[in-house]
Order: sequence, then structure tokens, then C-alpha cells
Amino acid sequence: MYTKFSLSGYHFNGPLLAGLLLGLCTLISEGGCSHVPYPDSPQWRNGRFENPPDWPRFPTVREFLRWIATRPRSFPDFAPRVVENDGQRLREERKRPSVTWIGHATLLVQGGGVSVLTDPIFSQRISGIYSRFAAPGVALAKLPPIDAVVISHNHRDHLDEASVKALGPRVHFVVPLGLAAWFRQRGLTVVTELDWWQTTEITTAAGHKAQITLVPAQHWSRRGLTDDRATLWGGYVLALGGVRVYFAGDTGYPAAFKEIGRRFANLDYALLPIGAYEPRWFMCPQHISPEDAARAFHDLGARHLIPMHYATFRLSDEPMDEPPRLLQQALGKDIDHLIELAIGETHWQVGTPPFSDLRP
Ligand code: ZN
Ligand code: ZN
Repeated sequence: MYTKFSLSGYHFNGPLLAGLLLGLCTLISEGGCSHVPYPDSPQWRNGRFENPPDWPRFPTVREFLRWIATRPRSFPDFAPRVVENDGQRLREERKRPSVTWIGHATLLVQGGGVSVLTDPIFSQRISGIYSRFAAPGVALAKLPPIDAVVISHNHRDHLDEASVKALGPRVHFVVPLGLAAWFRQRGLTVVTELDWWQTTEITTAAGHKAQITLVPAQHWSRRGLTDDRATLWGGYVLALGGVRVYFAGDTGYPAAFKEIGRRFANLDYALLPIGAYEPRWFMCPQHISPEDAARAFHDLGARHLIPMHYATFRLSDEPMDEPPRLLQQALGKDIDHLIELAIGETHWQVGTPPFSDLRP
């Protein structure tokens, strides 16, 4: 039984309103970030970061409220596919390229003796309201030593304060422009900021190297009430152990998939989001659908598609089990290139692809 509230014609149920209030408190608590100018960045326009002007328009606050007010009140039960992973083989075989899905947009990419985590979320809840459907596929304590963490943007399903603090101050964080200060304020001082198409190289204590490039994504950023697009967003291309891995973060379509595929030919793996796409009228500019992911995969010209950003948190209105089904239908003959991991599952690279330098 829900208690209903009315606000300017919108109807809110009790738990939803409690969640919104909690979210508002969190927004206020992190709302002090001012817009530090980045005049050298082509993405810095009109006092904030922006997507290219010919990319789709983003929803307004009014449209956000309309979506929140019209969300379904209940959802069917759901349990994601999960496999046990105690991390032992990952700790022992850090040279052989592999990709492990830990859940949502958190993946462990290893190769050539380097271990990289993407958008690490190990907390049970994000934003205080979204609870995970399955525990992290590899527990934080069971991970191999992490050399670098890449952060796509500052939304709370991609940047989790407790998780990055738990990884510790020795990890090298690679972040989009504007986000390094947030890390330094929390004692995480090994941090590199990148603009779109910029590359940094990391070297592990054992001398193993990886190249990490920030690439464009059709998205946005906000963490507090006053920091709308004060920090950049993006995806990453990782080169390690002879393979090239594209991690998309959050993005709409068409973004820059063709350009990324042109600049980084021979991508071995495309880690593409396939969840959080309904309702399309609201989500379309910022989150690709499974059908968009199939088109993006084609645009990229990558060898393998590994879907992510689904089956972990309920952030939107599609049925939780729908994304992989729609992806399989949309891929057509490209389905041979699909590697659909369970949470906790590792794909191990077969063969030895040629290594090529990453810098565009
Ligand atoms: Zn986002
Ligand atoms: Zn997301």
C-alpha cells in the first residue's frame, strides 16, 4: 500500500518520495563543487563541458520529473546469472589477456601483467536507494593487485566513494578532465586527468606497461546540485598485453563509435552498455539500447562484444532480463562475436594478437 503525494500535478508514492528526498540530501552534501574553467579543452563551452553541438538534445529537469512520476510501481522478480569466482586464477594469470564482469559497469581487464578496473562499484547500494541484485562477481579482497582504475564519469553508478577509497591511495586513477580534485580531496593522489583523445601510459612496479586513452561519449555529468557538467565524461581504450579493449562507460548513439573504430583499428573487445534504456523518450540521448549497442558494435569494427551495465541495479523501466534478449535479436549474423558473461565470469583471450602502439 502506497501513500500518495501530489507535487505540481505529479503523483509520488511514499517509498519513491523517501528515495527522492534521500537523493536530494546526497546532492546537497556534494553540491559545493564550482566550475573550474578548462579553456584549452574543445569540450569546454559556455562555462561547462558540452557534447558536440550536432549530438542529440538532453532531457530537461521537467522531463526528468515527468519520468520519475510515471515510472512503474512494481517490477517482476529477477535474479541475474552468476558464477562463482574466487579470483585465484586472476591473481595467478595476470599476463594472459582476460575480461571479468564484476557487475554493472565494473570489469576487470588484465593482460601483460597489468590489472585495470573500470568504474568500480562494490557497495551494496548506490545513491542510498538502488540495491544490487547480486554480490560483486569477485569480492574486493579477492582481486589481483590493481594497477589502474579508469572512471568514465561522476554519476553514482560509475563513481562510488566507498569503493574507490577501499581500493586505496596506491592505485593510479585515470579520470576525465575536472574530476582529479574530487580524488585528491579524498587522499587519492595518484590521479591523471585526460581530455578526449588524450593518452597516458602507466608502468607497474614490475615494469609492465599499459596505454589508456579517454575517448568521447555522448553523455553528461553531475554529482551535486551546482556541478552540472563541471567535469568531463568519456569512454576508454586500453592497450595491454597485446590487446585493445574499448570500455564505453555511459553513452547514447551515435556518439563517436565510427571515429573510435577508425582511430583504433583492430579493437579486440568492445565493452558496451545495454541496460537503462527505457523509456526511450527520456533515456535515448544518454543511454544506448541493445539495438543501438548492436549498431555501435558494427560501427566500431571490434572483434568481440561484451555487454555490461545491466542486470545489477534497476535504474530504469525495462524488464531486467530484457537487454540480452534484445541484443541477441539485434546482432543478426554478428551474434558469433558476442561474449555474454555472467556476473563473476571471466573470458580468457585465445591466441596472441599483435601488439600495436595506441597513440592516435
Ligand atoms: Zn551516467
Ligand atoms: Zn550508468
